[in-house]
Amino acid sequence: MTDSRSDQLEQRLDDVRTRIHEAARASGRLPTDITLVVVTKTWPSSDIRLLHALGVRHFGENRSQEAERKAAELLDLKLTWHFIGQIQSNKAAHVAAYAGVVHSVDSKRLVARLDTSAQRRGRSIDCLVQVSLDDDGVEPSSGRGGAAAEDLPELAAALDAATSLRLAGLMGVAPIDAEPVVAYRRLAALQADLRERHPGAEMLSAGMSGDYEAAIAAGATHVRVGSAILGERPLLR
Ligand SMILES: *Cc1c(COP(=O)(O)O)cnc(C)c1O
Repeated sequence: MTDSRSDQLEQRLDDVRTRIHEAARASGRLPTDITLVVVTKTWPSSDIRLLHALGVRHFGENRSQEAERKAAELLDLKLTWHFIGQIQSNKAAHVAAYAGVVHSVDSKRLVARLDTSAQRRGRSIDCLVQVSLDDDGVEPSSGRGGAAAEDLPELAAALDAATSLRLAGLMGVAPIDAEPVVAYRRLAALQADLRERHPGAEMLSAGMSGDYEAAIAAGATHVRVGSAILGERPLLR
């Protein structure tokens, strides 16, 4: 029996999957080259179980405590957890315990902490460097985090030197006042540069509910979609 929440999630998920498919085709890309990460922050583990039953395996969370609790509750599903929020250094050990992919690496200090913790647990973590896409010259005051593009080489080098972390690509959030496709093309250009020296950095995490089609047009391999599938979040963020 399906309850109404399950029907609602199924409908919205189908819609997002269809749009991803169409956006990929429109750019001459393969739909299978794009991974949908469903962002479940603020929503209960029961929703994640319903989404798992609909075939979703990749889930995104941005708060350490909440993510840790859900990962523990859903251990039986063997999900891949994508951590997409800012990480305070003292939370790095927690994130390293369950995250398969961290999208929000933006400092060498965080690289060091994640690596130590992952190593201790015998885990390996794919890491994306989050790049700030705010206009140059503007203070990174948006609160969205992200390293300056000029710091990319040294963060990439730090990840290369890490034992239990892998440099897997880049992540970005389009600034509110920017044209998403322009911001994401800039991110894709940074990734193209990066791949000359780091060919393994093949992931491009870009696009949220409002702009994932633009992100796919710019080359996103991973889109992070929350509210278009789960509904408007009860709390801000
Ligand atoms: C919340 C969040 C998303 C998903 O946002 P929606 O607009 O709900 O799709 C994607 N990326 C990051 C970094 C987020 O914090």
